[in-house]
Amino acid sequence: MKTKWLYYPVMALFMLLAGCDARHESAGASALVLEGRTMGTFWRVSLADVDASRKEALQKAVQQRLDQDDRELSTWKADSVLSRFNQYRGNDPQPVSDNMADIVTVALRIGQKTQGKMDITIGPLVNLWGFGPVKQPDKTPTPAQIAAARALVGLQHLRVIQRSEGAYLQKDLPDLYVDLSTMGEGFATDHLARLMEEEGIHNYLVSVGGAVLTRGKNSEGKPWRVAIQKPTDKENAVQAIVDLQGHGISTSGSYRNYYELNGKRISHVIDPTTGEPIQHRLVSATVIATTALEADGWDTGLMVLGEEKAKELALREKLAVYLIVKQGDGFTSWMSPQFKAFILPDRE
Ligand code: ADP
Ligand code: MG
Repeated sequence: MKTKWLYYPVMALFMLLAGCDARHESAGASALVLEGRTMGTFWRVSLADVDASRKEALQKAVQQRLDQDDRELSTWKADSVLSRFNQYRGNDPQPVSDNMADIVTVALRIGQKTQGKMDITIGPLVNLWGFGPVKQPDKTPTPAQIAAARALVGLQHLRVIQRSEGAYLQKDLPDLYVDLSTMGEGFATDHLARLMEEEGIHNYLVSVGGAVLTRGKNSEGKPWRVAIQKPTDKENAVQAIVDLQGHGISTSGSYRNYYELNGKRISHVIDPTTGEPIQHRLVSATVIATTALEADGWDTGLMVLGEEKAKELALREKLAVYLIVKQGDGFTSWMSPQFKAFILPDRE
């Protein structure tokens, strides 16, 4: 979805989370590993019990599936289905695939549950702050520019309509600009899991960017291990290891993608209420959910809400959430009870 790929200071956390670091899948744990690039990030599939002769065909099938998602959902491709919807200036319902209707439906629901903080109509603000296909600004946007962009943002302006013949998207603002970037990785991860099931494969770890889904066991017959690393400490400082049991996990981090403007750190996660990049002590939010898509939607909402409100929401919605909060020179972490249930008792 995004074409730029930046290396961030605490990237290690995400590499581990994405299962990209061999140290955290025990040696020989996966018989077959496939890797590639999509949506401006990396994908990875680890398989426990699949013959190496299938590697080439699977590699191709995965890439095709991901390219298909990208062609549909990318705001970086002017001719994607989503970009064409964004370019359309009318308010008639536009036919879309079930795929598109699904992601937007989940996004609108999570948007409402996060008090509008996860808002896929955020596009005009993302572009204003230089995180979309529009070039990075060399000056901080003015309050008037922010207000003008904010006037084009709001979940109430977008609807999914389901009819017997298919699904439609409708907007009531001609300049509405839908940006599905924040959920693209989770969505694509779920598709990889589905593809594996279609291929008759039931023991896998699949990941796209910061989203991961695992099912079954690795080739040692143990649950796949997804490690969450402490943000500051040495490379091997693992905070927790989770067994996802067929669930998806996703992390949103304020320091992942940013630039400096007038000495200030500008994050790519934007608060739709203020129209400005987030600026609080919550460093990252990790969510485990039944799908990677859900996890990827919630993590962004929690990130925007900030520490206190994120905790409240996690408890109210009974979400499996892990937060890392900056405190002085260090960090503290917090887990919801549902998250604890996924932690492997033994770190072997
Ligand atoms: P992270 O993994 O750090 O959460 P993602 O890549 O998942 O980041 O999502 C960040 C992208 O989501 C931004 O580049 C922007 O396109 C979009 N975005 C920014 N703020 C919001 C928001 N409040 N709600 C939904 N999408 C957002
Ligand atoms: Mg997200």
